[in-house]
Amino acid sequence: MSKAIKKIGVLTSGGDAPGMNAAIRAIVRTCSYHNVECIGIFRGFQGLIDADFEVLGPRDVNYIINKGGTILKTARCVAFRTEEGRKVAYDNLKKAGVDALIVIGGDGSFTGAMVLSKEFDIPIMGIPGTIDNDIHGTSHTIGFDTALNTVVDAVDKIRDTASSHKRLFFVEVMGRDAGHIALNAGIGAGAEEILIPEENMGMERLLESLKKSKKSGKSSSIVIVAEGEKLGKNVFELGEYVETNLPEYEVRVSVLGHMQRGGAPSCFDRVLASRLSVKAVETLLEGGSNYMVGLINDQVALTPLEQAVKGHSPVDQELLRVSDIITI
Ligand code: ATP
Repeated sequence: MSKAIKKIGVLTSGGDAPGMNAAIRAIVRTCSYHNVECIGIFRGFQGLIDADFEVLGPRDVNYIINKGGTILKTARCVAFRTEEGRKVAYDNLKKAGVDALIVIGGDGSFTGAMVLSKEFDIPIMGIPGTIDNDIHGTSHTIGFDTALNTVVDAVDKIRDTASSHKRLFFVEVMGRDAGHIALNAGIGAGAEEILIPEENMGMERLLESLKKSKKSGKSSSIVIVAEGEKLGKNVFELGEYVETNLPEYEVRVSVLGHMQRGGAPSCFDRVLASRLSVKAVETLLEGGSNYMVGLINDQVALTPLEQAVKGHSPVDQELLRVSDIITI
C-alpha cells in the first residue's frame, strides 16, 4: 500500500497561462479540505533546487482566481535537466516533508516531473497549463480559452482599421507547433484565411484565395498566421510577398505577441482549473500517480503522463472544414 500523503507540493512551470492562479487556489483549498498541508514552490523546478518553499493555507489564496500569471512565478530551469540538479531537488522535498508533487505546466514540465518520479519514487500529477492547447489527453488546457478571447478581441479592433482603410492585415498569433489558437480564434474573429503549422496551404493557393476574396466584393481582409506556419516565411516576409504579387492590396502586419498570455482568466478557464485541481489532489490521496488530469468530452479524466507527453493533439478537421466553408 502506498504511504499516506500528508503534504503536497505545487509548482507552476514553463510559460505562464491565465488560470494557473485559479488552479493553485483550488489545490490549496482541496488540500485543506482533506487536512493535508500544501507547500507552494516558487519559480518552477528552480524553486525545488533552491528550496524556495512556502506553506499555503486557504486564506493565502484569497482574491487570486481572477488574476493572470502565477503567484508562484514560473521558470525554465536548466539545472533540473541534470541528475545532480534533480537529486538536490528531491533532497529538498524530503527535508520539507513533501510526499507528492503537482506540476502545472506544459509537456516539458511533465517530462521533468516524470523523470524525478522515476528516479526517486515520488508520486506526481500533472495539470495542463498552457495557452497553446497542444497537450494530448485534454480538449482544453488551462489558459487556452482566455487566449482565444484575447485574440478575438484584438482582431475585432484591427478589423475596424482594416475595413476603414480597405487593407489586408496579417495578424500573427502564438502557436509554434500547433495551430489551435489560430484556427479557433480565426473562426471566431471571422478571418478570411488561417495559416497553421499543421497544414501547408502553399503561396499560390494563398494568393488565389485572396484574389477570389477581392473579386467576391470583400474590401478588406484578415489573415491569421500561427507563429509556426509552414510557408517558410515570417509574417513580415509573407506580407511583403503578398503586396508584391497582389498590388491591389495595401498590406499591414500585426504581431500580437505576449499580450496573448496575460489578462484575467475567462470563466471557462477558472472553472476548468478548479475542476482539474480538485481531481489532481484527490487522485494523489487515493494512491494514484503519474497521471495528467484533463477534460475529455467535458468530463474530468486521467491520462497517463507518458501518453500525454508522447501523444499528439491534432488539429480539428471539422473546424478546418467549417473555416473553409464560411470564408467564402
Ligand atoms: P510551455 O508549453 O509553456 O513551453 P513546458 O512545460 O513545455 O511549457 P518547457 O520549457 O519545455 O516548458 O519545460 C519546463 C521545464 O521543465 C524546463 O525548463 C526544465 O526544467 C524541465 N524539463 C523539460 N524537459 C525536461 C527533461 N527531459 N528532463 C528534465 N527536466 C525537463
